[in-house]
Amino acid sequence: MFMEDFNRLRKELVERLISEGLLRSEKVIKAMLKVPREEFVPKKYRSYAYHDTPLPIGYGQTISAPHMVAIMTEALDPRPGDKVLEIGTGSGYQAAIIAEIVGDEGHVWSIERIKELADFARENLKRTSYIRRVTVIVGDGSKGYEPAAPYDRIIVTAAAPDIPKPLIDQLRIGGRIVIPVGDRYNQRLVIATKVSKDRVKREYGIPCIFVPLIGEYGFRESEEGDF
Ligand code: SAH
Repeated sequence: MFMEDFNRLRKELVERLISEGLLRSEKVIKAMLKVPREEFVPKKYRSYAYHDTPLPIGYGQTISAPHMVAIMTEALDPRPGDKVLEIGTGSGYQAAIIAEIVGDEGHVWSIERIKELADFARENLKRTSYIRRVTVIVGDGSKGYEPAAPYDRIIVTAAAPDIPKPLIDQLRIGGRIVIPVGDRYNQRLVIATKVSKDRVKREYGIPCIFVPLIGEYGFRESEEGDF
């Protein structure tokens, strides 16, 4: 497939997500029109890059479906200049979308527990030049990433039993966190705003299914096999 084909398919997908009411704001629309999803999926799946579906990226993990990226990014509402923490780098695609929006004044710190995926994401982000706005860290993101805190926005792209306490601590007052919360098989998107030092106000979004957040404030690794 040629680049012109990918550009056309990307435009068609974005138009569909707009008509479905999932993409609403100009900045998220522009970012999804610009970031080449084909550069973030494994080579053998490139021709499926603009099907609105999750795709395997190895190690039992997936790149989220475009409609889920649209919904989560709209809910997160990153602004130019924001400092954003992402838990679950995966392919790096969601990080690139946020990097496109926060611009040169902002920055994204993204944590991935699987080293090989962190390397895959770094390569993808290098090839697309977003690496200068994204720092990929290998570790347990359920504990957040203290060195760059506080963050204006936090996005978790894996399912958690509840909002991990360290993430609330590392969020700026007035800041926002978007996270799928539930059990290992069914979750709801939670959009929480930090209203005081240790209190968040929660809003509930759509039902969703994410791979589990494995870590100290997530699910236990020993249960991973039954996912
Ligand atoms: N945002 C990604 C999709 C993420 S899939 C994208 O755009 O492609 C969820 C990812 O979360 C997986 O890669 C998984 O390995 C990772 N993950 C699970 N638990 C984690 C943890 N505690 N810390 C960091 N990453 C974690």
